[in-house]
Amino acid sequence: MTYTYDDQNIFAKILRGEIPNETVLETDHSLVFKDITPLAPHHVLVIPKGKYVCYDHFALTASEAEIVDYTRTIGKVCKMLNLQPGEGGNGYRLLSNAGEDGVQEVPHLHVHIIAGRDLGRIVN
Ligand code: 5GP
Repeated sequence: MTYTYDDQNIFAKILRGEIPNETVLETDHSLVFKDITPLAPHHVLVIPKGKYVCYDHFALTASEAEIVDYTRTIGKVCKMLNLQPGEGGNGYRLLSNAGEDGVQEVPHLHVHIIAGRDLGRIVN
């Protein structure tokens, strides 16, 4: 399995501090920041600090420490933003685009957390 990571992608530049971002949360292995073009009142991106192109690249090759950190970070953000359904929040959508058919714009793994309005159905 070969994944080619482009060090010049925008999120790599954000991780190196070359481009500013609005950080929401930072952990040992993950960074969460606001999307520059929010689709809803809450729209943040969760990225691993490691060089992973997309979800399968990460899930199949990252260390357990990275995977636990990343997964828990997504949960922590949902809690921080008060989105947890059943815990007082109104819910959220997790989305990760991969590759050409997934219309992935930035080739560094990111999970979108989108919330704060009725998002409508995307899967029937
Ligand atoms: P994709 O289509 O790859 O899943 O989404 C990439 C996301 O990155 C888009 O929602 C876009 O608004 C966001 N984005 C692109 N460039 C920047 C940037 O420089 N800063 C931030 N914070 N978000 C960006």
